[in-house]
Amino acid sequence: MKKKIPLWLKIIIGMILGVVWGLIAVNLGLEKFTSDWIKPWGTIFIKLLKLIAVPLIFISLVKGVTSITDVSKLTRIGIKTLTLYMVSTIISVAFGLFLVNTLKPGDTFPEQKRKEFQMMYEQNIKEKEQMANDVKDRSPLYIIEDIVPDNIFKAASDNTKMLQVIFFSILFAVAMLLLDSQKVLSVKNLFDSLNEIIIKIVDIIMKFAPIGVFALLAALISDFSADAGLFWALGKYAMLVSFGLIGLLFVLYPPMILLFTKVKLKTVFRALLPTQMVAFSTSSSNASLPVNMRQCNKELGVSESVANFVLPIGATVNMNGTSFYQAISAVFIAQVFGLELTLMQQLTIVLTATLAAIGTPGVPGGGIIMMVIVLGAAGIPAEGLALILGIDRPLDMIRTAVNVSGDAIVAVVIAHSENELDYSVQKDYSS
Ligand code: ASP
Repeated sequence: MKKKIPLWLKIIIGMILGVVWGLIAVNLGLEKFTSDWIKPWGTIFIKLLKLIAVPLIFISLVKGVTSITDVSKLTRIGIKTLTLYMVSTIISVAFGLFLVNTLKPGDTFPEQKRKEFQMMYEQNIKEKEQMANDVKDRSPLYIIEDIVPDNIFKAASDNTKMLQVIFFSILFAVAMLLLDSQKVLSVKNLFDSLNEIIIKIVDIIMKFAPIGVFALLAALISDFSADAGLFWALGKYAMLVSFGLIGLLFVLYPPMILLFTKVKLKTVFRALLPTQMVAFSTSSSNASLPVNMRQCNKELGVSESVANFVLPIGATVNMNGTSFYQAISAVFIAQVFGLELTLMQQLTIVLTATLAAIGTPGVPGGGIIMMVIVLGAAGIPAEGLALILGIDRPLDMIRTAVNVSGDAIVAVVIAHSENELDYSVQKDYSS
């Protein structure tokens, strides 16, 4: 009998072939061919994932919340979820600050290069600053204010407004819970069926994932090969963020798994691979949500009600990779500008990077826009963004992979604590 190749392996093969093709394209001058004939398949893959994101969040949250049935359990899970998200974000920021203050990647950055970068990205920064200013000029409570939509259709049509969709979904579901169950039975049944349909759609889309990531990586390498030099110029910083993010993956999550669950680390990391690969290729937590929900449920045994509740919220609220990156980047910029940060300024970074990560939309480059707020609060010049803008994409890819991993780990921990983790579906990879 033919042995089936598992999805994660197919995705890795797709990624490797994508990188190989990208390098061939750069060397043989096939950039135009790649962008005309290969890139569109990657774009289609991202579009499919985004297409499903809003209905998925709505349907799965309604299904998740209503299947918890008892409001006090819902409140308990809600509090646990937000607490774990907050604590893991603060640990990530602290870890970032520790690394950047110890290794000081910005201290040796040449003055000449700094000026060059500033000139190169002047326009780009103005745009980012403008976007962040729109947010900054509002009241300090803007994050809370922004959660409540005034028009659900407007919110649903904007991928950066997922928190608003989440708010509406939870409100809708809580109302259903508070009503007599007979009265809402038909709607509940409808959502059960819709949930099945959505899960099937995700399965169909995932069949396309290996081709999608192949195309995305091939196009990325052929489009950005000219910028490769930047990565080297910013070597120390880029290495610190990249390896630091990978370190975070191994410093933060294994203790959570080992302390709070009985799942084998190998099982978790293997199940997470497809989600991480999709996150890495799309740089978007929102786009990776469908895969994350599927993997957590099917391979880790997180119950539907927990996965449906914890993961959609995590995709927007919980960004460990982003907050880690924001802390390192803010201090790196300060170091390049020769600014000594006081303890107060460092604490401000902890606070604002935590809030900024919560407010960061799960879309490519979301984190760098919110950086302006961290820099502003800590009194670091926003022009410093010029230094890191050019290499944002590769770093975004890695931090997004960490972001989605954090969501999954919290889902596993909460499912275990609520007796909603089905260990029997987990594969044992130890042999
Ligand atoms: N791209 C990241 C995400 O979607 C956000 C960021 O830019 O840090 O998770």
